[in-house]
Amino acid sequence: MKEKGRAQVMDGARVAEEIKREVAEDVARMSREHDVRPCLAVVQVGDDPASSVYVGSKVRTSIELGLLSERHHMSSDSTTAEILEVVQKLNARDDVDGILVQLPLPKAVEEERVIEAIDPSKDVDGFHPMNVGRLALGQDVLAPCTPAGIIKLLEHYDVPIRGSHAVIVGRSQIVGRPVAQLLLQRDATVTVCHSKTRDLPSVTRQGDILIAAIGRAGFIRGEHIKPGATVIDVGINRVTDVDAARELFGDEAEKRLRAIAKRGSTIVGDVHPAEADRVAARRTPVPGGVGLLTVAMLMRNTVEAARRRRRLA
Ligand code: NDP
Repeated sequence: MKEKGRAQVMDGARVAEEIKREVAEDVARMSREHDVRPCLAVVQVGDDPASSVYVGSKVRTSIELGLLSERHHMSSDSTTAEILEVVQKLNARDDVDGILVQLPLPKAVEEERVIEAIDPSKDVDGFHPMNVGRLALGQDVLAPCTPAGIIKLLEHYDVPIRGSHAVIVGRSQIVGRPVAQLLLQRDATVTVCHSKTRDLPSVTRQGDILIAAIGRAGFIRGEHIKPGATVIDVGINRVTDVDAARELFGDEAEKRLRAIAKRGSTIVGDVHPAEADRVAARRTPVPGGVGLLTVAMLMRNTVEAARRRRRLA
């Protein structure tokens, strides 16, 4: 429920738990009826701390839901050829259903070649050009996980999509563009903004649904938001400055200040939470919003990839 004068906070954890429960049931059924356990292989190159956290969470969640999971950890000086060899071996293995190469790859690696080497039927991230093309054609594909999670969240909260104006800020391959495709498929009127968009607030203020995938802490302010809009905050940014945190979180800043004192930083989205609270009808929190759905949808995609590739009912 929306408190007076404050946006309803959309609970990503609850929706993620629902998806994971369904996935666990599907996995148990596949195992019972077909003696199959879907297997996700995650390739990590180097030791980027954020990547290690994401990979750890993907592997842990797979195991928690009854999937099989493998972590292929390669050194940061691995060559494109060495990574391609690992991907090709995983492509050839019939017991592997999903292959995920954790991005970003080290600068010296040809990222596009690695993504294009993944068997499209095992591409659980949905980044292979074949799957990107199919998505653009409106075909039924394994959609990229964060955008698919955003749709689940909107559906869970009965946010009308058909006929609504959805404005997206950000045009990346992993969030902005694919979420635009998914919303278009569901009959939204879609506008995609980026760093060259003129008079951004006048465009974003038209959004019944406003999705921010920018990578700049608290960038979307009250002036960007249509009163009563649903605001989806995809951004994950670190704020270390106490005054900045106080300004962003208003009367809820205490917890954030404690986090900065303890860990040196707090995680902030692309939306200014205190201002969004005053204007929007609903908004996702960071953390606790879209991020949790990304891993849940990866699990969903892995099970779906297994079902399709092995032609199970
Ligand atoms: P990218 O850096 O790939 O893209 C950012 C986009 O924002 C670009 O299209 C850029 O425009 C646009 N942009 C930058 N500055 C402005 C501006 N001043 N005005 C309007 N548009 C602007 O980022 P990602 O899409 O990969 O990620 C976005 C955020 O989402 C990050 O914080 C990331 O950490 C987070 N993220 C979270 C996930 C989750 O699971 N919750 C998953 C993936 C990402 P242009 O194209 O013109 O440069």
